[in-house]
Amino acid sequence: MRLGIVIPCYNEEAVLYETKKHIETLFKSMIEDNSISKDSFVCFVDDGSRDKTWEIIESFTKDNPLFKGIKLSRNFGHQNALIAGLMQLKDSADALISMDADLQDDILVIKDFVKKYKEGYDVVYGVREDRSRDTKFKRATAEAFYKLQSFMGIESISNHADYRLLSRKALNGLAQFKEINLFIRGVVPLIGFRSCSVYYKRGERFAGESKYPLSKMLFFALDGIASFSIVPLRIITVVGFIIFILSFFIILWIMFEKFFLGTTIKGWSSVMISIYFMGGIQVMSIGIIGEYIGRIFQQSKGRPRYIIDKEI
Ligand code: UDP
Ligand code: MG
Repeated sequence: MRLGIVIPCYNEEAVLYETKKHIETLFKSMIEDNSISKDSFVCFVDDGSRDKTWEIIESFTKDNPLFKGIKLSRNFGHQNALIAGLMQLKDSADALISMDADLQDDILVIKDFVKKYKEGYDVVYGVREDRSRDTKFKRATAEAFYKLQSFMGIESISNHADYRLLSRKALNGLAQFKEINLFIRGVVPLIGFRSCSVYYKRGERFAGESKYPLSKMLFFALDGIASFSIVPLRIITVVGFIIFILSFFIILWIMFEKFFLGTTIKGWSSVMISIYFMGGIQVMSIGIIGEYIGRIFQQSKGRPRYIIDKEI
């Protein structure tokens, strides 16, 4: 089988040599034992780096035909760099593996990916077995994020980042998702086909620092929810409806206080009634408008309505 590896890189000059060295050794042994073909390759995608990343990638390609490079015109972000690599190369390999440049994901797992591919799986997820090397904060926020996602009805693989194998068939499926705010790990389960997971321990970044500061991480998480679920809009409708129903009871109570107890000051009843009754109607109306916006949102994604596996 012809295997391709796609590695998005943003200012990674500190790790690239080490990454290259490790992959070179791995590929050599895999080619020797015939698990992958000689024309397998590794492609670095330079996501508009400001350091020497591209020069280093260029020197790799001159050094060894195993290496390829793609340079983006500016920094488009991790997900877009990844999709650029996958889409450019999907027709030149039987399967592509995506991974980070920083060697945090154990590259020996690539052997398991290939094994699973040969067993007939089109999607193989790399799943982190333990996150003990991550900070407490990162672990807790990740946990909360997976819970929130499942509450919003989004199918996702916990503790899986963008370390995975996709067969050519799955890549052609992925190509049919034209949405712009792409959260790849949310889209992959929607492609279908046979899938499985392989487990590994995640290490620390070999060198350099994380290219995902907290702010980027938060917006990324927002993408992971807002691009897949209209549940937040539904919540508005439901809250509005509850306030609206409650307002009838509140109105009864206000009337009771005004006509039977006579303890109210002038003007209180009418003000209170408008606050609750109108408040409920307003929130509910926003929710109803939201329902339509949600439909526009889903339509505008132009997601494939089906993906065919086989025809006989
Ligand atoms: N990356 C990228 N473009 C960006 C940010 C990151 O291509 O704008 C790449 C980066 O070079 C690395 C991968 O995405 O290969 C994951 O980034 P990082 O390891 O910094 O994230 P973390 O592991 O800290 O979440
Ligand atoms: Mg990393």
